[in-house]
Amino acid sequence: MTLNAILNPVLEGHDLSEADGILLLTQTDPVAIATIQQAADELRRQLVGDAVTYVVNRNINYTNICEQHCSFCAFRRDEGQDGAYWLDGATILDKATEAVQQGATEICMQGGLNPEAKVNGRSLDFYQRLIRTIKSEFPDLHLHAFSPQEVQFIAREDGLSYADVIVALQGSGVDSLPGTAAEVLDDAVRQVLCPEKINTATWLEIVETAHQLGMPTTSTMLSGHIETPVQQMQHLGLLRSLQQRAVARGDRGITEFIVLPFVGQEAPKPLRRRVGRDQPVRQDALLLMAVARLFLGRWVVNHQPSWVKLGLDGATEALSWGCNDIGGTLMEEHITSMAGAQGGTCMTVADLRAAIESIGRSPQQRDTLYQSLEPSFTTASDASRSTADSVMLI
Ligand code: SF4
Repeated sequence: MTLNAILNPVLEGHDLSEADGILLLTQTDPVAIATIQQAADELRRQLVGDAVTYVVNRNINYTNICEQHCSFCAFRRDEGQDGAYWLDGATILDKATEAVQQGATEICMQGGLNPEAKVNGRSLDFYQRLIRTIKSEFPDLHLHAFSPQEVQFIAREDGLSYADVIVALQGSGVDSLPGTAAEVLDDAVRQVLCPEKINTATWLEIVETAHQLGMPTTSTMLSGHIETPVQQMQHLGLLRSLQQRAVARGDRGITEFIVLPFVGQEAPKPLRRRVGRDQPVRQDALLLMAVARLFLGRWVVNHQPSWVKLGLDGATEALSWGCNDIGGTLMEEHITSMAGAQGGTCMTVADLRAAIESIGRSPQQRDTLYQSLEPSFTTASDASRSTADSVMLI
């Protein structure tokens, strides 16, 4: 089968099969790869136009003390170990205040899994206090917080259901969940990467529960380590099915997809040795982003590269491989920079806008849910809604 026989139907609105996705991911001929890139870029243009969005946000990692030992993680510490920390409420509020003063519309908050982190003997109360610390001062700030792994941790510690935890977090002020801890949604890969984390079925169950409760999520893939193209496509297939079910129910579901290429420089040695390199292979990440754009099609229309993992130049290049969003300012990124990433820990709005303009595209500020924060602009969210509408009409 020729590449055009695979790519043309996708450009006409048909879904790519996982088998054809594997075929695309395993191309090595530069002409074939350029053809895939062009198709991904064209589909991006069809679905969301030429503007490139960004969000002004701040990361807050409230603790790095974690009971787990993921084989890629250079961030975690044991209680009492050098560099272990918990942020107190005043520090968290200072960080949020500084972010708001710099124009942030979002706080992204995630942290380690610390069984000691309890208020009144309950984990949920600890997490709710974190939320209230920010929301009591800044009720309109979007709180994008707590991965599916953190939801499971709270549920386990307090003997609650996932729905109980999500409803309580939502009631306290969490507006959306990061789709992190997905790594690769394949249990054989997870056994090597994160054997103590939730398995594939539980990740999917928690994210789907969030969608059903009206809580949007993002979605991610940690790529470029031990996983195969078959496992990458299986991961994308699970995400697409999850989003198809969300659309069928009328839920917002997944707002964006982010490829997170593995950075091994400071990762624990066994996985680093097994992978055999410290920094991501940019061309592999770009091809995966292009295939993800083609495969997720009209179901997940916003695609973001990681400037932290790839550097701002790599993220800018990804905007020609199917991506339409350059991510956030972050203001302080620790998890990947501690793993040895060379992309930096923060970006100014001027940095992001200049990168977008350097390739002749127009920068547009958005909020977390892809609503435009600039006048006269059709957002990817608007495009996504009209796409979802047309899906419902078919
Ligand atoms: S990735 Fe998260 S859960 Fe895994 S060890 Fe690091 S902080 Fe803990």
